[in-house]
Amino acid sequence: MKVKKKQDNTTLYIVIIILLACIITYLTIITIHEDKQVGVDNETPITVIEGKDTTKEEYIYKEDLLTLGYTNNDVMEIEKTFTKDEVKNNLLDKKYNNLLKFKESKYFNINNLNRYQNYFDKNKYTEEQAVMYVEIGLDVPFYTNIKSADTSKGSLILVNKYYSINESYDANLETLGDGYGKGKLNKEAAKHFREMVDAAKKDGIKLRSISAYRSYSSQKSIYNNYVSKDGRTKADTYSARPGHSEHNTGLAVDINTASSSAHFEKTKEYEWLINNSYKYGFILRYPEDKMFITGYKYEPWHYRYLNVEVATEIHELNVTYEEYLVMAREKEV
Ligand SMILES: [Zn+2]
Repeated sequence: MKVKKKQDNTTLYIVIIILLACIITYLTIITIHEDKQVGVDNETPITVIEGKDTTKEEYIYKEDLLTLGYTNNDVMEIEKTFTKDEVKNNLLDKKYNNLLKFKESKYFNINNLNRYQNYFDKNKYTEEQAVMYVEIGLDVPFYTNIKSADTSKGSLILVNKYYSINESYDANLETLGDGYGKGKLNKEAAKHFREMVDAAKKDGIKLRSISAYRSYSSQKSIYNNYVSKDGRTKADTYSARPGHSEHNTGLAVDINTASSSAHFEKTKEYEWLINNSYKYGFILRYPEDKMFITGYKYEPWHYRYLNVEVATEIHELNVTYEEYLVMAREKEV
């Protein structure tokens, strides 16, 4: 009797063990399954949006985009390229014919989309150029939307027809001194200018400043003189309004001449500057055919001090300072 009871107990234990094993196996499977689900969701959220889980809100955007005139293909691309919020906040007011091409630019900013399209429609530029030029701010005429130049940038300050400095700007000046030509420059710029002139001299090239720093008030009288002679529109192509001249910053210098008729661009001095000025932190600031960006006709004599590093990058990229600043913005991100 006793033995039989023992046998019954053994059977019961075996049944309990099997049951427990089943429960543990079941729980393990469930846990692994849930983990996998979470993994999939985290890694590829787009799959969820495009899959069976399409919400009513997304469906509405799709219909809206089609109604605006986008093709099915466009809508698929838009869904792949833009977030739901971007579509909701920026793409439902009108159709942007060049939307996907604009988006290819590294400098694309969705908040400026309307400006890109307007600028593109009015000009004969590529989408990539339109984005760059709008980012520079060229879609409004020169001397409109004028802002204060960022003086915290030091020698990298941008002064042009959209950014100005006021009369109290401290240029931190130093006289260039004998053998270097006329005037004063910002201390750091002056040091580099002298180094450049000395280096050129060793190569048999004579460089000298014929105009360096100009005060706000002297720029004012120069500009007003030109306006009375040639009228404001013409004067604006070659002379800066007070506060808008790089000469007001003490960072710009006219070398050897300041006259187009001198054809400085055909001299060996010019050639030397093109090949070497960046090594001393200077760039040719108003290159040929870049008037629509810089606002100034070709000035082969006007050099701007930035610093060696930035001037070298600009030399290698072969771009204007305005373009460089948009490119650098992207790099900082
Ligand atoms: Zn100049």
